[in-house]
Amino acid sequence: SSPAVQFKRILLKLSGESLAGDAKVGISASHLKYFADEVKAVVELGVQVALVIGGGNIFRGISSQNFNLARVEADKMGMLATVINALALKSAFQQQNLPATVLSAVNIGTFVEPFSNERAIQHLEAGRVVLLAGGTGNPFFTTDTAGVLRAIEIGAEIILKGTRVDGVYNADPEKFEDAILFDRLSYMEVVRRNLKVMDTTAITLAMENKLPIIVFNFNKSGNLKRVVLGEPVGTKVQG
Ligand code: UDP
Repeated sequence: SSPAVQFKRILLKLSGESLAGDAKVGISASHLKYFADEVKAVVELGVQVALVIGGGNIFRGISSQNFNLARVEADKMGMLATVINALALKSAFQQQNLPATVLSAVNIGTFVEPFSNERAIQHLEAGRVVLLAGGTGNPFFTTDTAGVLRAIEIGAEIILKGTRVDGVYNADPEKFEDAILFDRLSYMEVVRRNLKVMDTTAITLAMENKLPIIVFNFNKSGNLKRVVLGEPVGTKVQG
């Protein structure tokens, strides 16, 4: 029998850096196209997709000291960076005939619609990819936490965190050749072992709301679709 679609609604979390290409800064045209192709493949399976995009390819609040900036202002810059990425993605998706809209946690007048859970769900049910920008709208949070928060708010069944490695390892696989890939973990193991899945705020929010997480390699074409079809890709984190 053909593999079955596992989810009706997913929240996909991708970092800003994954849009940047080798330079790790800015936005790469080929990566925009790649995002559109990968997401379109699961939309065509009938899956509703909300996407939280990071902003690290443009600015991260944590670097405020390097610029002698106040952290809160730097975090606002980081949140605005996610809006820039979301607008780029919306346009790229639309060019591939994938309807998409941006909802933002921060109010930016005429450029993007403000986020509400009801609006997000309306757009999803109308068949649009919903690009969630502005993080949580608060400084000192991350877009990973925004991803978990939004997933819960809009009733997504799972958060899929795309990375550039195959999942969660017991050590950094880009530094240690013998690092071991986990296929399953509990939330508490992630916290206890200080594994780099998401920040602790995001993990505990997911745990308290029983939101499962799959960490997978987004850079391998077709992987997002494999996850949605229930193939054993990446690392699953749950209770
Ligand atoms: N940010 C924030 N509040 C949020 C989400 C993000 O202040 O709720 C800021 C923070 O400065 C962060 C930047 O936006 O460094 C970009 O987000 P993040 O670092 O999570 O992006 P990613 O690493 O996923 O590209």
